[in-house]
Amino acid sequence: MKVVETLEELWKAREELPEPVGLVPTMGYLHNGHLSLVKRARKECVSVVVSIFVNPTQFSPEEDLEAYPRDIPRDLKLLESAHTDLVWMPTPEVMYPDGYQTWVEVEEVTKPLEGAVRPGHFRGVSTVVTKLFNGVLPQKAYFGQKDAQQVVVIQQMARDLNLPIEIVVVPTVRERNGLAMSSRNTYLNEEEREAATVLYRALQVAEEAYQSGERDGNTLRTILEDYIHAEPLAKIQYVSCANPLTLDELDEVTNGALLSMAVFVGKTRLIDNVILE
Ligand code: AMP
Repeated sequence: MKVVETLEELWKAREELPEPVGLVPTMGYLHNGHLSLVKRARKECVSVVVSIFVNPTQFSPEEDLEAYPRDIPRDLKLLESAHTDLVWMPTPEVMYPDGYQTWVEVEEVTKPLEGAVRPGHFRGVSTVVTKLFNGVLPQKAYFGQKDAQQVVVIQQMARDLNLPIEIVVVPTVRERNGLAMSSRNTYLNEEEREAATVLYRALQVAEEAYQSGERDGNTLRTILEDYIHAEPLAKIQYVSCANPLTLDELDEVTNGALLSMAVFVGKTRLIDNVILE
């Protein structure tokens, strides 16, 4: 496994990789969710590249950029065991040198949900993902369903900009108690970790209602809200029952839906979602 930092090092290492190349973009502090993306890429591609970059431009000033957990030696061990060929760990100066001034903005699908409560977040995401794509030139790139809106935004961007890259979406990996794996789970104390299972339990209750025939968007959103309100450590930021492509809120579910939410458990902000087929 090669580890590179600068663009020059990356280009040289990339030239030697047999294709197809699969890219897994991450912010590090890896867990089994990230590793399931790497495994999927390993299965489908001849070469696997993983990037580790805590992208400052997708954090707003009051978010957790400085506190974001990091453990590079551990990440590299895990990636080596997962048979990664190349790890790209650019520094912020490599990605955003002095005088940097070019941004990628996807419009409509970045407005609701995460975009509404994290202004500028997706501008940072779509810009850094474009730069990772342009650096690595992969044939395929792997993203987790855990970040459902991110997937929609990247797919929209790939279509709109004619990117010759297949976007592969990998299912959310969960702890045994249902909690979606996330680097931010490390912020939770024991009591909060237990309380955090309320997100997936709420999604399951709403999904059951849907399976039993409930199609009213407001009713499904209310089921999520009521269930989460019963957990004293949880505070809702938003719940949503939206069109899975446009992310517009639905009055009625006629052709599938994305049920999603952002919830604070203590000070930690967690997101989760399920797709209703
Ligand atoms: P992050 O390091 O949080 O930016 O995540 C890097 C990639 O891993 C993104 O595509 C995430 O959607 C994906 N990912 C994060 N957590 C999970 C999970 N629990 N299951 C599947 N994919 C995940």
